[in-house]
Amino acid sequence: MTRDPRYDVLFEPVQIGPVTAKNRFYQVPHCNGMGRAYPSSMAEMRGVKAEGGWAVVCTEETEIHHGSDFSPLIEGRLWDDSDIPTFARMCDKIHEHGGLAGVQPIYGGFVTANLYSREIPMAPSHTPVEGYEPVSARAMDKSDIKQVRKWYVDAAKRARTAGFDIIYNYSGHDESIQMHFLSRRHNHRTDEYGGSLENRSRLFREIMSDIKDAVGDTCAIAIRFAVDELLGSDGITSDGEGRDFVEMLAEVPDLWDVNVSEWANDSTTSRFAESGSQLPYTKFVKEVTSKPVVGVGRFTSPDTMVSLIKNGHMDMIGAARPSIADPFLPRKIEEGRPEDIRECIGCNICVTADFLATPLRCTQNPTMGEEWRKGWHPERIAEKTSDSAVLIVGAGPAGMECARALGQRGYGVTLAEATTELGGRVTKESRLPGLSEWARVRDYREGQIAPMVNVETYMDSHLTAEQIMEFGSDHVVLATGSKWRSDGVGRANHVAIAGSDSGSGSATVFTPDDIIAGKMPTGPVVIFDDDHYYMGGIMAEKLHAEGLDVTLVTPAADISNWTHNTMEQERIQTRLLELGVTLVPHRNLASIGGGTVTLSCVYTDREETRPCGSVVMVTARLPNDDLYYELTADQDALDAAGIKSVSRVGDCLAPGTIAAAVYSGHRYAREMDEPVTDAVPFRRELPQLAEA
Ligand code: ADP
Ligand code: SF4
Repeated sequence: MTRDPRYDVLFEPVQIGPVTAKNRFYQVPHCNGMGRAYPSSMAEMRGVKAEGGWAVVCTEETEIHHGSDFSPLIEGRLWDDSDIPTFARMCDKIHEHGGLAGVQPIYGGFVTANLYSREIPMAPSHTPVEGYEPVSARAMDKSDIKQVRKWYVDAAKRARTAGFDIIYNYSGHDESIQMHFLSRRHNHRTDEYGGSLENRSRLFREIMSDIKDAVGDTCAIAIRFAVDELLGSDGITSDGEGRDFVEMLAEVPDLWDVNVSEWANDSTTSRFAESGSQLPYTKFVKEVTSKPVVGVGRFTSPDTMVSLIKNGHMDMIGAARPSIADPFLPRKIEEGRPEDIRECIGCNICVTADFLATPLRCTQNPTMGEEWRKGWHPERIAEKTSDSAVLIVGAGPAGMECARALGQRGYGVTLAEATTELGGRVTKESRLPGLSEWARVRDYREGQIAPMVNVETYMDSHLTAEQIMEFGSDHVVLATGSKWRSDGVGRANHVAIAGSDSGSGSATVFTPDDIIAGKMPTGPVVIFDDDHYYMGGIMAEKLHAEGLDVTLVTPAADISNWTHNTMEQERIQTRLLELGVTLVPHRNLASIGGGTVTLSCVYTDREETRPCGSVVMVTARLPNDDLYYELTADQDALDAAGIKSVSRVGDCLAPGTIAAAVYSGHRYAREMDEPVTDAVPFRRELPQLAEA
């Protein structure tokens, strides 16, 4: 296939100071939870991106000195020469595929508590360390400023030795010392580093000329700058100091990488921001500079990318999440098959990896983070090793991914779905407020499976154990999903909540499955959220939109508590408060009955009652695994039917995230016909034992 000439512009080379990017696809810096702790995994992941066609592939935030230690978060590290080999490996992998390697060095100031190094963090002014760590960053004096400048130069030299082509001066996301100096809210100094923008940008400009002098002859020096903090007059704004700063330094860097701050405003989920939400703030930059400009916006459509270039909004298409969901996005456009792009759904499961200090995961791309340790490539998979046929029951994310990957291997696959639509829970949940993009999990797989002659899909086919036996496939995979439980058992309650069996009072119990199926509770509605992810908040939003009086009760301290990890919590709680949903944290649901619910304080057990027409129970899900037990109860019957194995994948095995279901289906396909062993199923990166 050849590429559509409309997309030619995306494959033009771009000169970035002393280096040349082969096309306009630019993987901006992004965290990955591997970095310093799992360097082989990190290097391989970045190499795969370069193989997939990204002309520039950058690191995550990379600590320049032991005084800027992001522990327990796992970022990059260039503290001294011993860190060079890690990044040399990454640079080699990127260069192998003709990519340029970029590094984002950082001194984090009051963002880093230095929990490992135990150094005192420094800031423009005395500032408590972020993240509620009960320590403070001390105000820097002139000798400290000199030191930090030197550390940036030392790190830049190490980066060049490692092989980096592009070195950042980073002032985005309110995370680096340069940005802290720039910010009126953080910089209260009265010397030549405080006061006017000229003064507050002094450290930034000094670091800029220091690293240019040190490595600028061979490395491009890029500025990453948040032109707006979305804080109005409390922060930098794109029609105020953000613009003034870009005008001041317009021609100084070799490239501008512009975004908005803080990270939650830049990597906003699709529930709260459309693709390209940064553009109104960033698009002025190209009017001000002749240097190449990179911008992000969760861009996945080549048509949008072309219009961004042609309309003069940017020169290179920046991407973090779209490159995680599909490391081969550029190659697919180049090879004339954009319909194969696995589009990011904007769920931010990838972001959770950073907050939880674990290797990167992605809902759409089950191979993310597994490139080195499991040898999983996002596009390649081993050919089948037998002529076994597989029957997959259930076409949710797990079943569809299992069918897609087995089909890619060449196995004969039958995919049977009880309903008349593909996608299982993603199809249903994509109809809930704000979640429409989640349907991309289904759409990508549907598009991939459709042309596979070895995969047959049967809709409207609810299979029973007898039918499965009759069908007699070599292997049976049950991907039958899960259902929300109505008895209230969850994290706070280990036995059924009194009255949850309904009937016993006038309140009726509903589950999210009921609401999604269109059943309408009577108000006032009490949603009991002991799940803590998105569903409780979404139910509140949906039922409020139906005109019901809604109260959301949760034992947690705040609403949808786990979504701190997807950077949504604040937005969810704000939205519900603004809608007028009554929020009741720190309360368990003690009992239901008589037109009321009884709530108990999680600390004191003190009880209170509230009027309640219906309860929506969002506590936990149970696997739909009846078929598994029916089938495996009779081994003789299985043998007679020629069924060699019956397996469960996804929510049918254990209800979890959509990412977990996709991964589970993919894993089954990868391990098909492999011997089952007890061995750790991936390569490990162990800490080296130092000399005694
Ligand atoms: P997962 O997230 O694990 O993929 P889902 O709940 O999204 O799970 O999808 C499960 C799918 O399985 C649903 O589309 C459901 O209709 C289908 N399903 C459940 N039981 C059967 C069955 N007995 N026969 C065929 N399809 C089934
Ligand atoms: Fe996109 Fe979600 Fe994957 Fe992150 S985890 S890259 S948001 S699909």
